[in-house]
Amino acid sequence: MARSSEIQKIIEGVLQGERRYLSKAITLSESTLDEHRKDAQEILTACLPHSGNSIRVGITGVPGVGKSTYINKLGYKLIQEKGKKVAVLAIDPSSSLSGGSILGDKTRMGDLASQIDSFIRPSPTSMSLGGVTARTRESRILCEDAGFNVILVETVGVGQSETKVHGMVDAFLLLLLPGGGDELQGIKRGIVELADILVVNKADINEDKARETAKHYSMALKLMPSSKPNWIPKVIQASAESDWNINESWDLVDNLLGTLTQNGALSHIRRQQDVAWFEEYLQHLLLQKLYSSPDLNSRKSELESKILSGEISPNTAAELLVKKISE
Ligand code: GDP
Repeated sequence: MARSSEIQKIIEGVLQGERRYLSKAITLSESTLDEHRKDAQEILTACLPHSGNSIRVGITGVPGVGKSTYINKLGYKLIQEKGKKVAVLAIDPSSSLSGGSILGDKTRMGDLASQIDSFIRPSPTSMSLGGVTARTRESRILCEDAGFNVILVETVGVGQSETKVHGMVDAFLLLLLPGGGDELQGIKRGIVELADILVVNKADINEDKARETAKHYSMALKLMPSSKPNWIPKVIQASAESDWNINESWDLVDNLLGTLTQNGALSHIRRQQDVAWFEEYLQHLLLQKLYSSPDLNSRKSELESKILSGEISPNTAAELLVKKISE
């Protein structure tokens, strides 16, 4: 079959919500081969007008806090009780090191994975974080085109990936453990400030501790600026394992979305996110171009040697290299 008709088939398949074609489209978008990237761009361009009709939620927290268990329960309920179609995408900065994804693992989300209205995609491996986030954004668009109206983006709450996820979702949920402040929980500074909703999970293990933790964070949040207009971050206790307050935590997402839609902030936030994405991706592509050019690479090595021997300053070296790009 000619390539263009194969691409057309994928586009139609995605728009008809066929998971097989959605997977194919995502695989093309994750490929590093130029030919595949070109195909992926064609698919994305055709599909883009059909995207945007979903609720995008980021879910983060340290390993072991219960992200998979929570997503499994929440996703299952959204499908069964609210008639949603749920896609789970993962951004896992460790997967490029380990070569295997610890997030978005279907075996850990059995109930959800067995649903026809679910789609679970682990983080692409062997890519830089910049590459992974760019691909996840494309996967999100493709999932929306395929009719998934809830997109859950899972990430580990220990590093740089949270700001990336924050920049591609409408609501950002942080899962916490009962007991202790940020340091004891292993949460990096700044992540709490990004959260719109904090879920103290595993409340079934120690109710008093969970209540105390919720209180601690409620007070701490009062001193922090909110990341969304007219929204004070909310804290809720829950148990993903025993299915307590899962629906209630989703009600908070609904409330947030209601507030943002009412005051017109949602479309503004999404547009701002797109512009920030453009900027970030442009930088990623420029760097990629730089590193893939043998000419520029050898010039760069020369300049590095000159910096090492104290011949030129780092600033001058950088400026000379940029000059070479525009030659
Ligand atoms: P993740 O690494 O954040 O994805 O965490 P998992 O979802 O894999 O959960 C880690 C462990 O905690 C698993 O053994 C779960 O069964 C358990 N777990 C998750 N949520 C709860 C909860 O609400 N209560 C209890 N008691 N255990 C939980």
